[in-house]
Amino acid sequence: MLLREYIRTLLEARPISIDKDKIRELAKFLSVNIGRKARKAHDDERRNRLPPWRGIGQIRKVWEQTYFSVEPVRGEEFTIRIIVATQPGSGITAGAGMGTNRNTGEPTMVVYLNANMKPGDLASAAETGILEGQLWPILIHELTHTADVFKPEAEYERKGGAKVPTSGEIDPVAYYNDPGEVRAHMQEIVDEVLSIPVEKLQAAFGSKGILYAVRSSETWKYIRDHLTPDNKKLILKAVYRELQEKGYV
Ligand SMILES: [Zn+2]
Repeated sequence: MLLREYIRTLLEARPISIDKDKIRELAKFLSVNIGRKARKAHDDERRNRLPPWRGIGQIRKVWEQTYFSVEPVRGEEFTIRIIVATQPGSGITAGAGMGTNRNTGEPTMVVYLNANMKPGDLASAAETGILEGQLWPILIHELTHTADVFKPEAEYERKGGAKVPTSGEIDPVAYYNDPGEVRAHMQEIVDEVLSIPVEKLQAAFGSKGILYAVRSSETWKYIRDHLTPDNKKLILKAVYRELQEKGYV
């Protein structure tokens, strides 16, 4: 880790400020449009009496795309292209990645849906809000990288498909302690903690406080064992600070 980067990390024991309302709108926009297309694909299949064997990856490569403007911590606002495509996986979403378009040089984020999913299942996921709920943390994570300093997302997040790399593919300690990843995961953890009902949060500070609150975060549970003590402290500090600002502590 560069010393400069290290000092910056220490100074910024708080999540990068990103416009969460805008990201929420984005998740909704993508989900609604994808749901509409999936519902139509499903209806077309039934109308034409096609056996429902096709996964969404065979129906179309790109399910939605749009542009999103990012205000980085330093530097000027820029636009990023967001593409929702498919790749084989399980479940509904199948990872995400970031890079620069080889031809146009345009910053691009790709969010993947599981190519094997049936269009009817995708339509239901969108209509019930499940898709939006899954897109949200992915968008928060990836957009934190862009707001941070724009740089192509490291290989490990692109290759495996899964958001969380499997051991063997990469070294989890190196991955989770990468300063950019610490900030992106910090963002997710703070978001998860803040989604706890207010009464529960307030009650928590009578007893075990911050640890209780942070333990409710799925992301924290998943990554804590890979974090160095310094990065653990940094994330706990960020959660604490955010709770303090919201008046819970
Ligand atoms: Zn990342």
